[in-house]
Amino acid sequence: MPANDHLKLSIVVPCHNEQDNIQELWRRSRDAAKACVGDSFELVLVNDGSSDNTWPVIADLAKAEDRVLSINLSRNYGHQLALTAGLTHCSGDRILVLDADLQDPPELLTDMMKLMDDGADVVYGQRKEREGETWFKKASASWFYWLLRKSVDIEIPANAGDFRLVSRRVVDAFLSMPEQHRFVRGMVSWIGYKQVALRYDRAPRLHGETSYTLGRMLRFAADAITGFSTKPLRIASYLGLMSGAFGVILLIYILISLIAARPVAGWTSLMAVVAVLGSATLVVLGVIGEYIGRMYVEVKGRPLYLISEVIGGMAAPHAATCPHCGKPLGASVGRHPETT
Ligand code: UDP
Ligand code: MG
Repeated sequence: MPANDHLKLSIVVPCHNEQDNIQELWRRSRDAAKACVGDSFELVLVNDGSSDNTWPVIADLAKAEDRVLSINLSRNYGHQLALTAGLTHCSGDRILVLDADLQDPPELLTDMMKLMDDGADVVYGQRKEREGETWFKKASASWFYWLLRKSVDIEIPANAGDFRLVSRRVVDAFLSMPEQHRFVRGMVSWIGYKQVALRYDRAPRLHGETSYTLGRMLRFAADAITGFSTKPLRIASYLGLMSGAFGVILLIYILISLIAARPVAGWTSLMAVVAVLGSATLVVLGVIGEYIGRMYVEVKGRPLYLISEVIGGMAAPHAATCPHCGKPLGASVGRHPETT
Protein backbone atom coordinates (compact mmCIF):
# COMPACT_ATOMS: atom_id res chain seq x y z
CA MET A 1 0.00 0.00 0.00
CA PRO A 2 1.39 3.45 -0.88
CA ALA A 3 2.52 5.35 2.20
CA ASN A 4 0.03 8.17 1.96
CA ASP A 5 -3.08 6.22 1.12
CA HIS A 6 -5.84 6.61 3.65
CA LEU A 7 -5.88 3.88 6.22
CA LYS A 8 -9.35 2.75 7.13
CA LEU A 9 -8.53 1.87 10.72
CA SER A 10 -6.01 2.67 13.43
CA ILE A 11 -5.87 0.72 16.66
CA VAL A 12 -4.28 2.78 19.42
CA VAL A 13 -2.93 1.05 22.52
CA PRO A 14 -1.13 2.67 25.47
CA CYS A 15 1.24 0.17 27.12
CA HIS A 16 2.72 0.31 30.58
CA ASN A 17 4.52 -2.84 31.77
CA GLU A 18 2.69 -5.06 29.29
CA GLN A 19 5.58 -7.16 27.90
CA ASP A 20 3.69 -10.47 28.20
CA ASN A 21 0.54 -9.19 26.52
CA ILE A 22 1.97 -7.71 23.32
CA GLN A 23 2.12 -10.84 21.13
CA GLU A 24 -1.42 -11.85 21.96
CA LEU A 25 -2.56 -8.25 21.53
CA TRP A 26 -1.01 -8.10 18.05
CA ARG A 27 -2.45 -11.47 17.02
CA ARG A 28 -6.00 -10.74 18.15
CA SER A 29 -6.18 -7.12 17.06
CA ARG A 30 -4.67 -7.96 13.65
CA ASP A 31 -7.22 -10.71 13.07
CA ALA A 32 -10.08 -8.47 14.18
CA ALA A 33 -8.89 -5.64 11.94
CA LYS A 34 -8.34 -7.91 8.91
CA ALA A 35 -11.87 -9.24 9.24
CA CYS A 36 -13.23 -5.70 8.93
CA VAL A 37 -10.89 -3.69 6.70
CA GLY A 38 -8.47 -6.17 5.10
CA ASP A 39 -4.95 -4.76 5.17
CA SER A 40 -5.92 -1.13 5.52
CA PHE A 41 -5.11 -0.78 9.21
CA GLU A 42 -2.30 0.06 11.60
CA LEU A 43 -1.58 -0.75 15.22
CA VAL A 44 -0.14 2.18 17.17
CA LEU A 45 1.61 1.08 20.38
CA VAL A 46 2.72 3.71 22.87
CA ASN A 47 5.23 2.72 25.53
CA ASP A 48 4.47 4.83 28.56
CA GLY A 49 7.70 4.64 30.55
CA SER A 50 7.51 0.91 31.26
CA SER A 51 10.04 -0.55 33.68
CA ASP A 52 9.93 -4.01 32.08
CA ASN A 53 10.78 -5.07 28.51
CA THR A 54 7.71 -3.56 26.87
CA TRP A 55 9.72 -1.15 24.72
CA PRO A 56 12.16 -3.72 23.23
CA VAL A 57 9.20 -6.03 22.59
CA ILE A 58 7.09 -3.43 20.76
CA ALA A 59 10.14 -1.99 18.97
CA ASP A 60 10.93 -5.46 17.59
CA LEU A 61 7.32 -5.94 16.58
CA ALA A 62 7.36 -2.63 14.68
CA LYS A 63 10.54 -3.67 12.87
CA ALA A 64 9.04 -7.03 11.91
CA GLU A 65 5.52 -5.90 10.98
CA ASP A 66 5.00 -2.91 8.73
CA ARG A 67 1.51 -2.40 10.12
CA VAL A 68 2.85 -1.60 13.58
CA LEU A 69 3.96 1.85 14.69
CA SER A 70 5.73 1.95 18.06
CA ILE A 71 6.24 5.15 20.01
CA ASN A 72 8.44 5.45 23.08
CA LEU A 73 7.57 8.29 25.45
CA SER A 74 10.39 9.94 27.38
CA ARG A 75 8.98 8.72 30.73
CA ASN A 76 5.73 7.57 32.33
CA TYR A 77 3.03 10.18 31.68
CA GLY A 78 -0.02 8.12 32.63
CA HIS A 79 -2.65 6.28 30.61
CA GLN A 80 -4.58 9.33 29.42
CA LEU A 81 -1.55 11.18 28.05
CA ALA A 82 -0.10 8.02 26.48
CA LEU A 83 -3.43 7.56 24.73
CA THR A 84 -3.31 11.17 23.54
CA ALA A 85 0.17 10.54 22.08
CA GLY A 86 -1.15 7.53 20.17
CA LEU A 87 -4.18 9.44 18.88
CA THR A 88 -1.91 12.26 17.66
CA HIS A 89 0.19 9.83 15.64
CA CYS A 90 -2.44 7.58 14.15
CA SER A 91 -3.73 8.21 10.65
CA GLY A 92 -6.79 6.01 10.15
CA ASP A 93 -10.27 7.19 9.21
CA ARG A 94 -11.62 5.31 12.20
CA ILE A 95 -9.76 4.77 15.43
CA LEU A 96 -10.18 1.96 17.95
CA VAL A 97 -8.87 2.68 21.44
CA LEU A 98 -7.85 -0.50 23.22
CA ASP A 99 -6.03 -1.55 26.41
CA ALA A 100 -2.96 -3.76 26.07
CA ASP A 101 -4.18 -6.25 28.69
CA LEU A 102 -6.99 -7.49 26.41
CA GLN A 103 -9.67 -6.90 29.03
CA ASP A 104 -11.70 -5.44 26.18
CA PRO A 105 -12.08 -7.90 23.29
CA PRO A 106 -10.85 -6.49 19.93
CA GLU A 107 -13.26 -8.93 18.25
CA LEU A 108 -16.08 -6.49 19.04
CA LEU A 109 -14.65 -4.31 16.29
CA THR A 110 -17.00 -5.92 13.75
CA ASP A 111 -20.09 -4.83 15.69
CA MET A 112 -18.61 -1.40 16.37
CA MET A 113 -17.87 -0.89 12.67
CA LYS A 114 -21.46 -1.77 11.81
CA LEU A 115 -22.82 0.77 14.27
CA MET A 116 -20.50 3.36 12.78
CA ASP A 117 -21.63 2.45 9.26
CA ASP A 118 -25.12 3.26 10.53
CA GLY A 119 -24.07 6.80 11.33
CA ALA A 120 -22.47 6.80 14.79
CA ASP A 121 -19.37 8.91 15.37
CA VAL A 122 -18.49 7.19 18.63
CA VAL A 123 -19.23 3.60 19.62
CA TYR A 124 -18.23 3.06 23.23
CA GLY A 125 -18.00 -0.25 25.02
CA GLN A 126 -20.19 -0.41 28.09
CA ARG A 127 -19.30 -3.11 30.62
CA LYS A 128 -21.92 -5.60 31.70
CA GLU A 129 -19.77 -7.59 34.09
CA ARG A 130 -16.38 -6.74 35.53
CA GLU A 131 -14.99 -10.25 35.85
CA GLY A 132 -11.85 -10.82 37.89
CA GLU A 133 -11.94 -7.39 39.50
CA THR A 134 -11.92 -7.05 43.28
CA TRP A 135 -15.08 -5.98 45.13
CA PHE A 136 -13.17 -2.84 46.05
CA LYS A 137 -12.53 -1.93 42.41
CA LYS A 138 -16.17 -2.58 41.53
CA ALA A 139 -17.46 -0.58 44.53
CA SER A 140 -15.09 2.34 43.94
CA ALA A 141 -16.01 2.39 40.25
CA SER A 142 -19.72 2.58 41.07
CA TRP A 143 -19.19 5.41 43.63
CA PHE A 144 -17.03 7.20 41.12
CA TYR A 145 -19.70 7.09 38.39
CA TRP A 146 -22.37 8.15 40.90
CA LEU A 147 -20.29 11.17 42.00
CA LEU A 148 -19.48 12.00 38.41
CA ARG A 149 -23.14 11.95 37.36
CA LYS A 150 -24.03 14.21 40.29
CA SER A 151 -21.32 16.76 39.64
CA VAL A 152 -20.71 16.95 35.93
CA ASP A 153 -22.87 18.94 33.55
CA ILE A 154 -22.40 16.73 30.49
CA GLU A 155 -23.64 13.15 30.08
CA ILE A 156 -20.74 10.76 30.75
CA PRO A 157 -21.91 7.15 30.36
CA ALA A 158 -21.43 4.89 33.38
CA ASN A 159 -19.25 1.78 33.21
CA ALA A 160 -17.62 2.82 29.97
CA GLY A 161 -13.83 2.96 29.93
CA ASP A 162 -11.74 4.22 27.06
CA PHE A 163 -12.53 1.21 24.86
CA ARG A 164 -14.28 2.82 21.91
CA LEU A 165 -14.30 3.27 18.15
CA VAL A 166 -14.25 6.91 17.10
CA SER A 167 -14.36 8.71 13.78
CA ARG A 168 -11.58 10.90 12.44
CA ARG A 169 -13.51 14.12 13.07
CA VAL A 170 -13.92 13.18 16.73
CA VAL A 171 -10.17 12.53 17.08
CA ASP A 172 -9.35 15.83 15.38
CA ALA A 173 -11.70 17.67 17.73
CA PHE A 174 -10.15 15.82 20.67
CA LEU A 175 -6.63 16.82 19.60
CA SER A 176 -7.67 20.46 19.49
CA MET A 177 -8.41 20.36 23.23
CA PRO A 178 -5.19 21.45 24.92
CA GLU A 179 -5.71 20.54 28.58
CA GLN A 180 -3.00 18.82 30.61
CA HIS A 181 -5.36 17.04 32.99
CA ARG A 182 -7.06 14.81 30.49
CA PHE A 183 -10.10 12.70 31.23
CA VAL A 184 -10.43 11.21 27.78
CA ARG A 185 -13.88 9.61 28.02
CA GLY A 186 -15.32 12.88 29.38
CA MET A 187 -13.67 14.89 26.61
CA VAL A 188 -15.10 12.52 24.00
CA SER A 189 -18.59 12.89 25.56
CA TRP A 190 -18.16 16.66 25.48
CA ILE A 191 -17.44 16.55 21.73
CA GLY A 192 -20.92 15.19 21.04
CA TYR A 193 -22.14 13.94 17.62
CA LYS A 194 -23.90 10.60 17.63
CA GLN A 195 -22.54 8.38 20.41
CA VAL A 196 -23.87 4.87 20.92
CA ALA A 197 -23.14 2.14 23.46
CA LEU A 198 -22.19 -1.46 22.79
CA ARG A 199 -22.63 -3.66 25.86
CA TYR A 200 -20.04 -6.36 26.50
CA ASP A 201 -18.52 -8.49 29.24
CA ARG A 202 -15.16 -7.28 30.46
CA ALA A 203 -12.60 -10.06 30.93
CA PRO A 204 -9.90 -10.18 33.59
CA ARG A 205 -6.39 -8.99 32.72
CA LEU A 206 -4.42 -11.43 30.53
CA HIS A 207 -1.04 -10.96 32.31
CA GLY A 208 0.41 -8.45 34.72
CA GLU A 209 -1.26 -6.15 37.22
CA THR A 210 -3.46 -3.09 37.00
CA SER A 211 -1.57 0.20 37.18
CA TYR A 212 -4.57 1.98 38.62
CA THR A 213 -3.82 1.93 42.33
CA LEU A 214 -6.08 3.65 44.87
CA GLY A 215 -4.00 6.85 44.77
CA ARG A 216 -4.14 6.96 40.96
CA MET A 217 -7.88 6.34 40.93
CA LEU A 218 -8.43 9.21 43.37
CA ARG A 219 -6.33 11.54 41.22
CA PHE A 220 -8.22 10.36 38.15
CA ALA A 221 -11.56 11.08 39.89
CA ALA A 222 -10.35 14.55 40.91
CA ASP A 223 -9.26 15.26 37.31
CA ALA A 224 -12.60 14.07 36.01
CA ILE A 225 -14.67 16.22 38.33
CA THR A 226 -12.58 19.39 38.33
CA GLY A 227 -12.05 19.11 34.57
CA PHE A 228 -15.75 19.12 33.80
CA SER A 229 -17.50 20.97 36.57
CA THR A 230 -17.21 23.92 38.91
CA LYS A 231 -19.87 22.45 41.19
CA PRO A 232 -17.37 21.70 44.00
CA LEU A 233 -16.68 25.45 44.12
CA ARG A 234 -20.40 26.13 44.43
CA ILE A 235 -20.72 23.51 47.17
CA ALA A 236 -17.76 25.15 48.92
CA SER A 237 -19.55 28.50 48.91
CA TYR A 238 -22.74 26.85 50.23
CA LEU A 239 -20.68 25.34 53.02
CA GLY A 240 -19.22 28.78 53.73
CA LEU A 241 -22.72 30.29 53.80
CA MET A 242 -23.98 27.58 56.12
CA SER A 243 -21.13 27.97 58.58
CA GLY A 244 -21.60 31.77 58.36
CA ALA A 245 -25.29 31.39 59.26
CA PHE A 246 -24.32 29.09 62.11
CA GLY A 247 -21.89 31.76 63.33
CA VAL A 248 -24.59 34.49 63.27
CA ILE A 249 -27.08 32.34 65.20
CA LEU A 250 -24.39 31.57 67.74
CA LEU A 251 -23.53 35.26 68.06
CA ILE A 252 -27.16 36.15 68.74
CA TYR A 253 -27.34 33.43 71.35
CA ILE A 254 -24.14 34.67 73.03
CA LEU A 255 -25.34 38.30 73.07
CA ILE A 256 -28.69 37.31 74.55
CA SER A 257 -26.92 35.25 77.22
CA LEU A 258 -24.69 38.23 77.97
CA ILE A 259 -27.64 40.62 78.28
CA ALA A 260 -29.47 38.13 80.46
CA ALA A 261 -26.29 38.00 82.56
CA ARG A 262 -25.92 34.29 81.91
CA PRO A 263 -22.72 34.11 79.83
CA VAL A 264 -21.90 30.62 78.62
CA ALA A 265 -19.00 29.41 80.63
CA GLY A 266 -16.29 27.38 79.24
CA TRP A 267 -13.75 26.10 77.00
CA THR A 268 -15.84 23.32 75.44
CA SER A 269 -18.23 25.54 73.53
CA LEU A 270 -15.40 27.79 72.34
CA MET A 271 -13.31 24.90 71.08
CA ALA A 272 -16.33 23.36 69.38
CA VAL A 273 -16.92 26.54 67.42
CA VAL A 274 -13.24 26.93 66.51
CA ALA A 275 -13.04 23.31 65.36
CA VAL A 276 -16.23 23.44 63.25
CA LEU A 277 -15.50 26.78 61.61
CA GLY A 278 -11.79 26.01 61.22
CA SER A 279 -12.40 22.76 59.40
CA ALA A 280 -15.10 24.28 57.19
CA THR A 281 -12.62 27.00 56.21
CA LEU A 282 -9.92 24.46 55.41
CA VAL A 283 -12.25 22.34 53.29
CA VAL A 284 -13.33 25.37 51.27
CA LEU A 285 -9.71 26.48 50.85
CA GLY A 286 -8.74 22.97 49.77
CA VAL A 287 -11.38 22.92 47.04
CA ILE A 288 -10.30 26.34 45.77
CA GLY A 289 -6.68 25.15 45.94
CA GLU A 290 -7.49 22.16 43.70
CA TYR A 291 -8.72 24.48 40.98
CA ILE A 292 -5.87 26.97 41.39
CA GLY A 293 -3.31 24.15 41.23
CA ARG A 294 -4.82 22.92 37.99
CA MET A 295 -4.89 26.44 36.56
CA TYR A 296 -1.19 26.79 37.46
CA VAL A 297 -0.33 23.61 35.57
CA GLU A 298 -2.41 24.68 32.55
CA VAL A 299 -0.98 28.21 32.50
CA LYS A 300 2.57 26.90 32.24
CA GLY A 301 1.53 25.50 28.85
CA ARG A 302 4.10 22.72 28.81
CA PRO A 303 3.99 20.06 26.12
CA LEU A 304 1.68 17.20 27.08
CA TYR A 305 4.42 14.61 26.61
CA LEU A 306 7.77 14.12 24.91
CA ILE A 307 8.72 11.32 22.58
CA SER A 308 12.12 9.69 22.57
CA GLU A 309 11.72 7.29 19.63
CA VAL A 310 9.30 6.29 16.89
CA ILE A 311 9.72 3.00 15.00
CA GLY A 312 7.87 1.65 12.00
CA GLY A 313 4.51 2.61 10.61
CA MET A 314 3.26 2.76 7.04
CA ALA A 315 1.87 6.23 6.74
CA ALA A 316 3.56 9.51 7.62
CA PRO A 317 2.51 10.71 11.08
CA HIS A 318 -0.91 12.23 10.79
CA ALA A 319 -0.54 15.97 11.12
CA ALA A 320 -3.84 16.80 12.74
CA THR A 321 -5.10 20.31 12.28
CA CYS A 322 -7.07 22.24 14.82
CA PRO A 323 -10.69 22.30 13.61
CA HIS A 324 -11.10 25.79 15.06
CA CYS A 325 -8.08 27.70 13.78
CA GLY A 326 -6.87 25.29 11.07
CA LYS A 327 -3.28 25.36 12.28
CA PRO A 328 -1.39 22.07 12.46
CA LEU A 329 -1.06 20.52 15.90
CA GLY A 330 2.49 19.59 16.92
CA ALA A 331 3.06 15.99 15.97
CA SER A 332 5.45 15.17 18.79
CA VAL A 333 4.09 17.31 21.57
CA GLY A 334 0.33 17.33 21.06
CA ARG A 335 -0.09 21.11 21.11
CA HIS A 336 0.03 24.06 18.77
CA PRO A 337 3.73 24.42 17.95
CA GLU A 338 3.78 28.11 18.79
CA THR A 339 2.47 27.48 22.29
CA THR A 340 5.21 25.06 23.21
N1 UDP B 1 -1.31 2.37 31.08
C1 UDP B 1 -0.44 3.35 30.59
N2 UDP B 1 0.21 4.15 31.47
C2 UDP B 1 0.06 4.04 32.82
C3 UDP B 1 -0.86 3.07 33.30
C4 UDP B 1 -1.53 2.26 32.40
O1 UDP B 1 -0.27 3.47 29.38
O2 UDP B 1 0.71 4.80 33.55
C5 UDP B 1 -2.02 1.51 30.12
C6 UDP B 1 -1.94 0.01 30.42
O3 UDP B 1 -0.81 -0.57 29.83
C7 UDP B 1 -3.23 -0.51 29.81
C8 UDP B 1 -4.19 0.65 30.00
O4 UDP B 1 -3.39 1.80 30.22
O5 UDP B 1 -3.09 -0.76 28.42
C9 UDP B 1 -5.14 0.43 31.16
O6 UDP B 1 -4.41 0.19 32.34
P1 UDP B 1 -4.83 -0.91 33.41
O7 UDP B 1 -5.17 -2.18 32.71
O8 UDP B 1 -3.72 -0.95 34.42
O9 UDP B 1 -6.13 -0.26 34.04
P2 UDP B 1 -7.52 -0.96 34.44
O10 UDP B 1 -7.94 -1.82 33.28
O11 UDP B 1 -7.21 -1.76 35.65
O12 UDP B 1 -8.44 0.17 34.71
MG1 MG C 1 -6.83 -3.25 32.43
